[in-house]
Amino acid sequence: MEARSSRARFGLVLASLLAVQLIAGASHRTENFVVEAPTPEIARQVGEHAELCRTRIAREWLGRDLARWPQPCPIKVKLTRGEAGGLTSFGFHRGKVSDQEMSVEGRLDRILASAIPHEVTHTVLAAHFGAPMPRWADEGAALLSEDDRELRRHDEICSRLVSRRGELPLARLFAVEEYPHDLLGFYGQGYSTSRFLVEMGGKPRFLKFISDGGKMGWDQATQMHYGLADVRELDRAWRAWHTVVAEYRLKTETLAASEPIAQGQ
Ligand SMILES: [Zn+2]
Repeated sequence: MEARSSRARFGLVLASLLAVQLIAGASHRTENFVVEAPTPEIARQVGEHAELCRTRIAREWLGRDLARWPQPCPIKVKLTRGEAGGLTSFGFHRGKVSDQEMSVEGRLDRILASAIPHEVTHTVLAAHFGAPMPRWADEGAALLSEDDRELRRHDEICSRLVSRRGELPLARLFAVEEYPHDLLGFYGQGYSTSRFLVEMGGKPRFLKFISDGGKMGWDQATQMHYGLADVRELDRAWRAWHTVVAEYRLKTETLAASEPIAQGQ
């Protein structure tokens, strides 16, 4: 009797502990992130994945490892049944990130495949520049870190944008400071232009172009890093590339996706 009642009491305590945990969520700390998520396992998974992304993205874009951040970046995780989305806000002070905060939401598999690599790219680039990047390049680079499914989606968005002539001349795209009304189109064109530049000269050169474009002007930076006369010529080259390469990629990817899967014998 005594044993049964203490077991019941233990069960009750366990149940209320679990309930508190579900309401309050769980936290997991890694070297550079501190994650708040609905369960300890999800917090651990997101934190470890964010660290892996941080290392990979810094090596790919900067060609080196980043130093450990003095303060871990908080990540809030909200699980929903939808596609993933995220937001990272930054404060800058004297050429350095003074604070940063990330939130992601969606299905866990989509958070890991797209929202975390996207948002972590923003943190790596913010650490590198120590100041806000031009919007198109910041979003373009972050979108390039997402998985193939998202890349294909943005190829499609940009193709639709160009076919309805909704794209901006690159000279105007480069000057956009605030997110415009047609957000999806802006992301699509930022992604496509960034992908074009990265395919021409690689990721580190893209970042040097962004840095020099802000200092010396886009025409001179275009000449210096891509050997083209000015932004108008770059614009023409991007359009030609988009028409041939992106359309070809879309067609072959659509074909591959619609081909029946061969049955093994
Ligand atoms: Zn973004």
